[in-house]
Formats: sequence, structure tokens, C-alpha cells
Amino acid sequence: MTTAVVVGGGPNGLAAAALLAKAGLEVTLLEAADEVGGGTRSEEALLPGLLHDHCSAVHPMAVRSPALRALGLERHGLRWRLPEVDCAHPLDDGTAGVLLRSVAETARGLGVDAGRYRALFGPSARSWDALAGDVMGPLLRLPDHPLLLARFGLPTLAPAEVLARLFRTPQARALWGGVAAHAFRPLSEPLSSAIGLGILTAGHAAGWAVAEGGSGAVARALEGALREHGGEVRTGVRVTGRAQIPPADVTLLDLDPAQVAALYGDLLPARVRAAYLRFRRGPGAYKLDLAVEGGVPWTAEPARRAGTVHLGGTFAEVAHAEGEVAAGRMPGRPFTLVGQQYLADPSRSVGDVHPVWAYAHVPHGYDGDATEAVLRQIERFAPGTRDRITGVRVTRPADFAAGNPNFGGGDILTGAKSPLRLLLGPRAALDPYATGLPGVFLCSAATPPGPGAHGMCGAGAARAALRHLGGSGALGDLGGLGG
Ligand SMILES: Cc1cc2nc3c(=O)[nH]c(=O)nc-3n(C[C@H](O)[C@H](O)[C@H](O)COP(=O)(O)OP(=O)(O)OC[C@H]3O[C@@H](n4cnc5c(N)ncnc54)[C@H](O)[C@@H]3O)c2cc1C
Repeated sequence: MTTAVVVGGGPNGLAAAALLAKAGLEVTLLEAADEVGGGTRSEEALLPGLLHDHCSAVHPMAVRSPALRALGLERHGLRWRLPEVDCAHPLDDGTAGVLLRSVAETARGLGVDAGRYRALFGPSARSWDALAGDVMGPLLRLPDHPLLLARFGLPTLAPAEVLARLFRTPQARALWGGVAAHAFRPLSEPLSSAIGLGILTAGHAAGWAVAEGGSGAVARALEGALREHGGEVRTGVRVTGRAQIPPADVTLLDLDPAQVAALYGDLLPARVRAAYLRFRRGPGAYKLDLAVEGGVPWTAEPARRAGTVHLGGTFAEVAHAEGEVAAGRMPGRPFTLVGQQYLADPSRSVGDVHPVWAYAHVPHGYDGDATEAVLRQIERFAPGTRDRITGVRVTRPADFAAGNPNFGGGDILTGAKSPLRLLLGPRAALDPYATGLPGVFLCSAATPPGPGAHGMCGAGAARAALRHLGGSGALGDLGGLGG
């Protein structure tokens, strides 16, 4: 039987493993931690029954991800839940930019910006299911829907600050700035719109969904799909040398390129090794898990119903904070994301105590204390929150790195998403998943389409691995994803 080994059980490693097992390979997955999931896990960090997501929380790109859909994860217990308001971006005057599932309703709330908002997002959101495979696949190939892709892709080339000028209201500009800031890049940089446009468009098609029972449910469902197709999972195996990797026809690595360079060293072609060693990391995340009695008393009413709240004030303020972080300086008011997943999934709360998830963008490897800065940003838009907090757990950049080498320096996106890296992955090559070593592929979020719990980097690598095996008649395809 044709065999595959996958090192690393984040959503991409799991998706790659499950897809290959489904295609007929005998698959073994090795994971360093005691459970699979990587950046897609949940835990009772502060109080029994109070469920916080460790990393990924909201999943607009995952719900309609072709990789996850091909695996039928609902059969393995995955249920998506939607908040009433997808995202709110409060301002100091008590108003907010408000993102709803419907493009038309979101536009209606943006006053004079309604027409522009509809024009920017309506057509692509309506075509998202057709577009998703192209947008979430590697760049250097023939798209299935070139015209749709061109329509979606043109605005992504612009810096986020150029698109912000399309809007006149501070609410629309701030809402756009907060979503664009998910890229952890200066908003003046070309292509700094790409991640934001992807998230907004996918979100209008699918909603900013959370997984019922915590994001760990995504990983458990992927593990279930892998086991359903005969795959084996070995946890507690941190791979530090090639000798630990069992021989197999194909090996897929859910690792950052620096680890791959360390593991495979001189076996890699010199140009690939050099590119992997040059791999640049992005800014860091500084996270607070909070237990909040009665929830956060946001001044802006829509934020009380929002699954996600973006804190950073006006577009100009968000852009300034992101620029500072990229330059290695800690801003006084860091851009901060707050997750209220319990609004869509009340099973995560204990009585009237609710799990609130918050993280700020900080410089790469930041080793200072940002707890006060994050709490100040929350208090700024929700005075009185401090009095309701009954528990806090802090995860610093160094803690993220210690828990998962892919997040070195707190870089939760597995590499700086500069324009070239976002488009091509860690090196310029026709196949971004190939390491140059026959049969060995990279499948982590360092490869296209980049970060998120959507499994599409894993799917791209699984497709490349099947191609390497020659599309052997004994093997199936990737169930709607193509061979
Ligand atoms: C605070 C935070 C918030 C986030 N928010 C969101 C969000 O809301 N929505 C979203 O879609 N995404 C979000 N993300 C990003 C998302 O979690 C990642 O992009 C995603 O997890 C990447 O998946 P992956 O499979 O590439 O790698 P990872 O999730 O990093 O998994 C890699 C796995 O490999 C294992 N591993 C690493 N090295 C070795 C080794 N040497 N041997 C064996 N095993 C190894 C690790 O233990 C880990 O389990 C967030 C991340 C963080 C940290």
C-alpha cells in the first residue's frame, strides 16, 4: 500500500492527512503535543466548563473551505454557529462600524458608503463557492474561474489605505481597517488588502462562524475523518531529527520552513535551503483569556451582540498601530481583537460568567507586559469591564512559541505575509508545497493560501503529493478537489 507520513497535526497537517487517507494512502500523523489541533484547540483555562479557544476562534474562511467540505466533517461532529453580528468596530463617540452576514444589510448601516460597499463585496460574495478554490489555491496555475478571480483579485493589489479612501464615513473606514489589519502588515503596503478582502468576502458568504463546543471541534472532526479512512495518529512525538520520521512514499510537513531546513539540512537543494533559512517571521500576538461576569458592557450596542469586536479606533489609528508593530515598536494603543464566541455558542459559559478571548498585535518577540494596554483598549470602549473580570490568563509571544515552534516570536501567521510571501509562500517556485526533495512537501500556513483554520494549505500539499505519486490508478482523488 502507498504510504504517507505527516509531521504536525494542526488544521493543515490534519486536512492533508485525512485527504490522503481518503484517497487510499496508509497515513501516519506525528504530533508533538498531547493532542492534535495546533492553532485550532480549546481549553478550560480559567474555570471548569468555561471554554476558551487557544488560538483560532472565528472561521469565515473555513465554513466553505473546499478541503473541509470534501471531508464531510459534520459526520464527525462539527457544527458551525453564527453570532447575530459578525463583527463590530466601535469608535470613541459610541458609534460602531457593524458587519452583518448580509452585504445589503451591512451596506445599509454604512449610510453614504452603502453603494460602494455593495459594489466592492456583493458580486464576489455571491460567487464565493465558485471562487473559493481559486482564491484559496496556489497562485501560479490556471484558475477555474478567471473572470471571477480577476474581479475579486484586482482590489487585493491595492494597499488597504487606498481602499479605505473609497469610504467617507469613519465607521466604514474603521470597519475596513480592522479587517485588513488581520494581515499583521503596514496598511500602506501593496497587497495589504488581500487578507481583509478574502475574510470579508468569505464572511459575507458563510458568516464569521465559531465551532460548537470550541475550535477544538474542528481538529477533532478532522482527526475523526482521518481515522475513518484508516489513518493513525501518534501524539507526544516531537520530531527533532529525520530518524524519527518513518520511511514513506510521501512525507508532508506541517512545520515552519526554518524547522524543515533544520530537519533536512544539506539534503535540500541549496537554493531551497537558503530560502527556508531566510524565512522571515511576522509580528507577535499577546493574548488574554478573560472570565467576565455578565459579559463586556460595550458602549456601542451592536458590539454586545458581536462575535468579534475590533478595537483600535479610527482607520488612521489602526494604520498607525500596525505600522509601529511592523517596525518593531510597541504602540501605546495596540490593535486588539476581542472574541465573544459564547454569544453564538452559549455552551462555553458557566452561568453568567463568560469566556472572552482577546489578543493584541505586538512586535515580533515582544517581551514586555502588554496586559494593561489590552485592558485599556477594552475599557476605552466598554467602561466598567475591569470590575466584571473574575479571571485572567496571559499568553505572551514566547508562550506561543514554546507551545508550537510554528509560532516563533509569537508570529501566529507562520511567517510575515509580505506581498511576495503571501502570493508565493516561502520561495518562488511553480509548486509552493515542493521542498525540492522528491516526495517531501511543506503543508503548513507558510504556504498558500496562508494562515487560517481552513486546511487549504494541507489540501494543496496533498494534491502535490498525489501528483508526485503519478496519479496512480490505485489512488483516488481528493474528493471534489481534483487530483
Ligand atoms: C491567538 C491566535 C488567534 C488566531 N485566530 C484565528 C481565527 O480566528 N481564525 C483562523 O482561521 N485562524 C486563526 N489563527 C491562525 C490559525 O490558528 C493558524 O493559521 C493555523 O492553526 C495554522 O495551521 P497549521 O496546520 O499550518 O499549523 P499549526 O496550527 O501551527 O499546527 C502545527 C502543528 O505541528 C506541531 N508541530 C510543530 N513542530 C513539530 C515537530 N517538530 N514535531 C511534531 N509536531 C510538530 C504543533 O504542535 C502543531 O500541533 C489564530 C492563531 C492564533 C495563535
